[in-house]
Amino acid sequence: MDMLTKEQRHRCMSAIKGRNTKPELLVRKFLFSRGFRYRLNNPRLPGHPDLVLRKYRSVIFVNGCFWHGHEGCKYYVLSKTNVEFWQNKIECNRLRDKDGQRKLASMGWHCITVWECQLKPKVREQTLEALVYTLCHIYLEDGRIKPYNPVKESIQMVAESETGYCK
Ligand SMILES: [Zn+2]
Repeated sequence: MDMLTKEQRHRCMSAIKGRNTKPELLVRKFLFSRGFRYRLNNPRLPGHPDLVLRKYRSVIFVNGCFWHGHEGCKYYVLSKTNVEFWQNKIECNRLRDKDGQRKLASMGWHCITVWECQLKPKVREQTLEALVYTLCHIYLEDGRIKPYNPVKESIQMVAESETGYCK
């Protein structure tokens, strides 16, 4: 159950989801350059996704590793002081993220999370290419057009390594 008042939640949301943060801009610029069109921060959708791609029936969250508690990530490190406070706070963010994504999924949206650490210079291009691949894949899977992708194989290799950055 959500114990926050509307006002508290609003404050909490704007604190965790700083608008136009740099990682989010990176994703936006890249997708735009590849011809994707999206809407930003649609307030009517649960979980307040950063980007909404209606054509792909997909939403994208660009999450800071600390605030959203990226499991196993080196950027999600709690300071020694006030451990309990931060643990609770981040756990609350995590639950809220999950809840939002569950609702979105039940509405038929595909939820994609891009973590801040996946946008560090060394891995950025890989991540963004994998994101494009994922979106194209979703589009094809949704069965609106017949699969045809001559460069699929080279991109697929990138997509498969997608989950390994934070170990
Ligand atoms: Zn991370």
